[in-house]
Amino acid sequence: MDNQSPLSSTTRRNILQLGAKAGSMIAVSGILAGLSGCKSGSKRNGRSANMIGQPIPGDPVHVNHPPSMPFPTNSSRPQVAAARLTELPHFVIPRTAWTHGKTKVSLADPMQQISRITVHHDAISPLPSGQYADSVRRLVAIRRGHLGNHWADIGYHYAIDPAGRAWQARPLIYQGAHVKDNNPGNIGIVMFGNYEQATPTAKALDTLNTLIAHEMRRFNVPLSRVYTHQELRSTACPGRNLQAQMIQLRRPNGALAMLVNQYTAST
Ligand SMILES: [Zn+2]
Repeated sequence: MDNQSPLSSTTRRNILQLGAKAGSMIAVSGILAGLSGCKSGSKRNGRSANMIGQPIPGDPVHVNHPPSMPFPTNSSRPQVAAARLTELPHFVIPRTAWTHGKTKVSLADPMQQISRITVHHDAISPLPSGQYADSVRRLVAIRRGHLGNHWADIGYHYAIDPAGRAWQARPLIYQGAHVKDNNPGNIGIVMFGNYEQATPTAKALDTLNTLIAHEMRRFNVPLSRVYTHQELRSTACPGRNLQAQMIQLRRPNGALAMLVNQYTAST
């Protein structure tokens, strides 16, 4: 896949050049990219949850979470304090809802200063019904595949299902494993589905937009540092249809910029 970056900066070119050097390994097929993952691993402390796989009260898919949520009010450029890495956006379902598995700390690297966000698809067929339990099974399967690669944990930090639920995956205190040679300081978000073939749902895109804007604001990540996998490496991920949506979302006056500006103005 070409690097269809709508943001041609020197920084991006440098990253692409770096990526091209070792690019062959990630040119995995779309199907393999899903369960075996976009890249390597880390861990997490599972909090004790009693009912893995059971819908939590106030399942966020049934709650109007989008642009009404308040952002942290830090107006100066904050350092990424460890405490902030452990904070979960209030609309994200915690990891303990789908696994008690622990991150393999010996294989994990700590998250560095967060400076970018990268969007993926899992390249797996659509979820049959969009039910909560379907997403739990999908997360468990992806994590199992990533652990099978001898990674520390599921590679992504967040997952979004077609119903618009956002899920915590690898804890943000650990560096992700989702873009080869580009994982430091890089938040990984995966959208369930194969968007080379399907079209992302409006609900999923809405949540994706909200989550990206939230993390941009929280960690001072500029719009120019929001990527798709194929903009960093040679891969079809996140599929042509999601790629097209990401290009639209990131336009100067697109939905993402407007949302970030809206939040910034209100804090
Ligand atoms: Zn990917």
